Amino acid sequence: MSYTHKPTVIETIAEKLHLIADLHAEGSGPATKSAAVDGAQVNCPPPDQWDNWVEYDSKSWPERKSKEYMLIPTACFNCEAGCGLLAYVDKESMTMRKLVGNPYHPASRGRNCAKGPATLNQIEDTDRVLYPVKRSGKRGGGKWDRVSWDSVLDDIAGRMRKAIQEGRNNEISYHVGRPGHEGFMEWVLRAWNVDGHNSHTNICSSGARFGYAIWEGLDRPSPDYTNAKFMLLVSAHLESGHYFNPHAQRIVEARMKGAKLAVLDPRLSNTASMSDYWMPSYPGSEPAVLLAMAKVIIDEGLYNRDYLENWVNWKEYLQQDYHGTPVTFEEFIEALKKEYSSYTPDFAEKESGVKAATIIEVARKIGEAGTNFATHVWRSASSGNLGGWEVSRTLHFLNVLTGSVGTPGGTSPSAWNKFHPDVHAKPKLQTFWNTLHLPDEYPLAHFEMSFLLPHFLKEGRGKLDVYFTRVFNPVWTYPDGFSWIEALEDESKIGLHAALTPTWSETAYFADYVLPMGHAAERHDIISYETHAGKWIAFRQPVLRVAHAKMGHPVEYTWQANAGEVWEEDEFWIELTWRIDPDGSLGIKQYCMSPYRPGEKITIEEYYRYIFERVPGLPETAAKEGISALEYMQKYGAFEVESNVYKVNERTLSEADLQGSSVQQETGLITKNGKSVGVQVKGANCTGFPTPSRKQELYSRTMVDWKWPEYRLPGYIKSHVHQEIMNRSKGEFVLVPTFRLPVLIHSRSGNAKWLAEIAHRNPVWINASDAKSLGFEDGDLIRVNTDIGFFINRAWVTEGIRPGVLACSHHIGRWRREQDPAANRWSTNRVQIRHEGSGKWKMRVEESIEPYESSDPDSSRIFWSDGGVHQNITFPVHPDPISGMHCWHQKVRIEKAHEEDRYGDVFVDTDRSHQIYKEWLAMTRPAPGPGGLRRPLWMNRPFRPDEKTYYL
Ligand code: SF4
Repeated sequence: MSYTHKPTVIETIAEKLHLIADLHAEGSGPATKSAAVDGAQVNCPPPDQWDNWVEYDSKSWPERKSKEYMLIPTACFNCEAGCGLLAYVDKESMTMRKLVGNPYHPASRGRNCAKGPATLNQIEDTDRVLYPVKRSGKRGGGKWDRVSWDSVLDDIAGRMRKAIQEGRNNEISYHVGRPGHEGFMEWVLRAWNVDGHNSHTNICSSGARFGYAIWEGLDRPSPDYTNAKFMLLVSAHLESGHYFNPHAQRIVEARMKGAKLAVLDPRLSNTASMSDYWMPSYPGSEPAVLLAMAKVIIDEGLYNRDYLENWVNWKEYLQQDYHGTPVTFEEFIEALKKEYSSYTPDFAEKESGVKAATIIEVARKIGEAGTNFATHVWRSASSGNLGGWEVSRTLHFLNVLTGSVGTPGGTSPSAWNKFHPDVHAKPKLQTFWNTLHLPDEYPLAHFEMSFLLPHFLKEGRGKLDVYFTRVFNPVWTYPDGFSWIEALEDESKIGLHAALTPTWSETAYFADYVLPMGHAAERHDIISYETHAGKWIAFRQPVLRVAHAKMGHPVEYTWQANAGEVWEEDEFWIELTWRIDPDGSLGIKQYCMSPYRPGEKITIEEYYRYIFERVPGLPETAAKEGISALEYMQKYGAFEVESNVYKVNERTLSEADLQGSSVQQETGLITKNGKSVGVQVKGANCTGFPTPSRKQELYSRTMVDWKWPEYRLPGYIKSHVHQEIMNRSKGEFVLVPTFRLPVLIHSRSGNAKWLAEIAHRNPVWINASDAKSLGFEDGDLIRVNTDIGFFINRAWVTEGIRPGVLACSHHIGRWRREQDPAANRWSTNRVQIRHEGSGKWKMRVEESIEPYESSDPDSSRIFWSDGGVHQNITFPVHPDPISGMHCWHQKVRIEKAHEEDRYGDVFVDTDRSHQIYKEWLAMTRPAPGPGGLRRPLWMNRPFRPDEKTYYL
């Protein structure tokens, strides 16, 4: 599909006045042609001109001076969506001029949010870390010396070699904030035989993931919005959240075709404001609302009998819970009616505040939409509440009831729409289980209990000899940041801390090494996510490295093309792994060998070449253009592996799969070598879902076996912030601290000037009626008391939040101390931190944001001074005893600020936070489970180790 821009009347006049280029004369000047691909109505030069694209230089105006560019695709790194970017490289200066959308990316289709183009700010940030530095003086003291990469690699590799030789493999840990390079770290960590993967997921999405996993073995939703007739979001996906740009464009497409949108959110988000039904539910009550909708669908016969009968383990439910009852579908429906009889719309209204009539109306619309019903929850209520995993479980219940799982316009499991690369080396599964990451108290924890690490270290459960943090900032992003500072400062707990980061952060201040890593256009990664009913792979590549090669000056390592000595992680890990085992005696080095040049170290190009040669359809598509698979990805930056992916559970097993298998007559389960491999449905041998029954598990035998029988069916758990424990007259509220501002990125937009200019404060949202009853005016300074301390912020009086609820965005309130490098000055307050002993910490803003002189003239034009308030650091940890998710919502007490309080003040007592950790720990029901297991074998575990390690 080609696209030619038709000049508007205004453009024609401007053209006649010679204010802009001649847009009519084809080929008579630069920038006269555009192209677009299917689904992407965006202007873009055609790819055959990307190596030599000419535009007038805007800075030379009114002179018409041509500039030559190379256009090189890469992928955004500013959220997980990995949207396509197209970098304009100025051939003369060999610098990036701008980054725009890449229309050849199947998910983002040429569109980006504000954070994509702002990658340029991050690259050009005058405060960025350009060289590796090592601390001198005490850890956290703020003194740094520049060192060579060689010395860094040798030092860390030597220390790791010693730990591995001494069997202290569990003392090596890699802690990831922003993931990105699909499959890479599994290869590296397994080569080391280290169970060292620790992720941020339990402060992010594992609550929602657990709710999905317990149904279908796969842990995220992939809605096919484009074809939906009705959409229900427990999120703000039109403006923020994971994959929100690819999702938002498809939600809008569906709306333009007449689909309706309902949103459950206590906050009038931009998403809620665009909806047909805004249901401002009290935080934590969402499962009550969703179960009431389920009840309406069941009672009114709006369910999809065919789907329920064939794809749900209802027979197991009847057999277990209704002994002696005939196992018929009619009995099943009767049992469901009985089970959910108390979840009336009136009950849900009492819990949530959402009108019963609205709940009934939305439920009926869902029933009408049938298989064209798309839903989504990522974090939001699932990550806010004790038992928040029941939010996704009850939301998915609606998809199951309507048979909209994996259908056009329905919601698929994530894995169906995500491509997994095949890497060149496959080390054996690690033979260690690291209980600092997955302790026995949390056998069902969906991801590592990363936010409890300081408490585990404090209790003496272990120590870390080498600790890598990778684009990860727990001091600021996690709850209980002062406990992190205490742990990071203690060299007896953490022997060496290397912070791999593209920018200075509150955590990097407490490292031994700060190792600069590239931003989006400065690194290699592979990305694939469940953005729609397809499957794609995208290539994040270092733009200047590619540009130098195109100009005939290839570099050996990416850092040679990047600014300063900014490395990329892939090359860092290969180099480090090589040096851990220089003579190959540890059996590690073998995994770093080139698959093309036996006995030699793999290069980064070879690593990706191997993967792309194995992407189904990619080599053939590339061959049509006379190029290799790697060259295709370098040229276009993305490839669609599969489109219109639906009903994968109905795909049939091959003859080879079936050989040696047997079928259980009663359940249809197909097993082979003691493991289930599929299920017979309507006479077909289907692959089904990766659950014990190979069906959707309404009834969870796993919950029964692992000591939680009361949650064997989707249900409602009263949250730790339930309204019955709030005394409003004393100023007690639930604080929702989880919402995102659309233009910010947790802790990595601090160096993006365009983004900081748009959003730089985070007041506390309070409903006008609550403000009035407490005597607060808009802008008043308030003290927000949490269970471990307080923060001082301003009130924002608004109707955009339901009464009884406060909200504060978590993106803002960045800081640096006097002794720290002057970094991220677009967004950081300079603070003083005082440790007053016995766990008492105080933070006070000494200097807010101010203009400053630098080589970027914009830094002297900063007009804002408010840097916001750091709230997360005042929250204790709240680990959900089942999913392991940190339950973010807080019961707080608000009052007028005290006389001594100043805006931005923070106080925390970490002794108290440790007590609260223990209170929540006491709620767990630890392993072992059946057979002495640490964890159910069938459930996914991040970075799965050898099966032998599963047994206590
Ligand atoms: S949605 Fe995410 S990946 Fe896409 S442009 Fe925005 S920040 Fe980048």
